[in-house]
Amino acid sequence: MQYPLYNFDQLHNQEFKSKLKESISKIIDDGSFIEGKFNFEFEEKFAQMQCAKHCLLVGNGTDALEISLKALEIRPGDKVGVPALTFYATAEAVVNVGAIPVLVDVDNEEPLISLESLKRVHSIHNLKAIIPVHLYGLPIEMKPINNFCLENNIKIIEDGAQASGTFTDFGPVGSNPESLTIFSFYPTKNLSAMGDAGAILFKDDSMADKIKSIRNHGRGLEGVIGRNSRCDHFQAAVLFHKLEKIEEYNTRRKEVALSYYEKLSNGPFKLLSEKFLKTSSWHLFPLRFKNHEEAKSASAKLTENGIGNTINYYAKSMKQETALSNCEGEWTSANSWAGSVVCIPIHPFLTEQDINNITLRILDSFSHL
Ligand SMILES: *Cc1c(COP(=O)(O)O)cnc(C)c1O
Repeated sequence: MQYPLYNFDQLHNQEFKSKLKESISKIIDDGSFIEGKFNFEFEEKFAQMQCAKHCLLVGNGTDALEISLKALEIRPGDKVGVPALTFYATAEAVVNVGAIPVLVDVDNEEPLISLESLKRVHSIHNLKAIIPVHLYGLPIEMKPINNFCLENNIKIIEDGAQASGTFTDFGPVGSNPESLTIFSFYPTKNLSAMGDAGAILFKDDSMADKIKSIRNHGRGLEGVIGRNSRCDHFQAAVLFHKLEKIEEYNTRRKEVALSYYEKLSNGPFKLLSEKFLKTSSWHLFPLRFKNHEEAKSASAKLTENGIGNTINYYAKSMKQETALSNCEGEWTSANSWAGSVVCIPIHPFLTEQDINNITLRILDSFSHL
């Protein structure tokens, strides 16, 4: 028996498919392909679920970052803090609006942005904005970051691309009153489209018209250079129907994580702090090895034993990316995290039997270490 990293067959089961097919057929009959009723219904429901005042759908998660940077009036040459350990898109979006990414290190024990590093980096670089990332779905403690940013006039964009199901000290990701929060609905995320889609969540009313205008060629406002980043009606229908089960699925991920913690505490790898058990979305389940060599051989062993896994979340820090190698800032801990993590299957359809088999095989794979 093979245990793949993701399970689309059960996610897109018969019940879901028949609801979706009916909706898609209606969209075709109505010819309402852009910004249709599912867009508005999803935006309203998802905003409610995440305790945000507004939710606006856009083309994808990276666009959501770029549009947020523009809406906050980040200009070419402005410096924006990004974690030195994140998915490439976080830094890419900053470059794409002409701003300069400055790396902020992550914590040694948690792969999340370090407030101490942020303070040091800001004192040298005078950041205009910061993009904290809830990496792997782990919640960043946002109140201390908010306080520092408010005192220093730094705008906050939370990258919640992996954080559907994550709870910070404000509540569900999206509920921070001071930030714009972005989501990605790429097919492998917890809440996923069947193609590309993303969203921006926020409280500030003055942002709504601006973001709506930027995502749709500057329409509705004078003097805006926008772009096309509309979310099509098909994807909105997919997302709308998936909302029905998302809380159940995210709860199940937490249960799987709990079982993993019970069964994997003696492996030759580190698990993240147990304080995340109830608050992470468990978008990914990382095992941290001593170094890249150990992680690489562990990954090969797991593959041999039928356990889907990847070393690519995240194999390089931003400093180690060719196109970003000139970035300034701090990255020591990020470099030590990079390449030393192996992610194993965590999805809502793993049964207790599956978890038993997976964990036994994992421990067996490493009996040589
Ligand atoms: C997936 C992801 C993105 C980008 O989302 P896309 O929809 O692929 O553009 C941005 N940041 C993080 C942390 C992600 O995981």
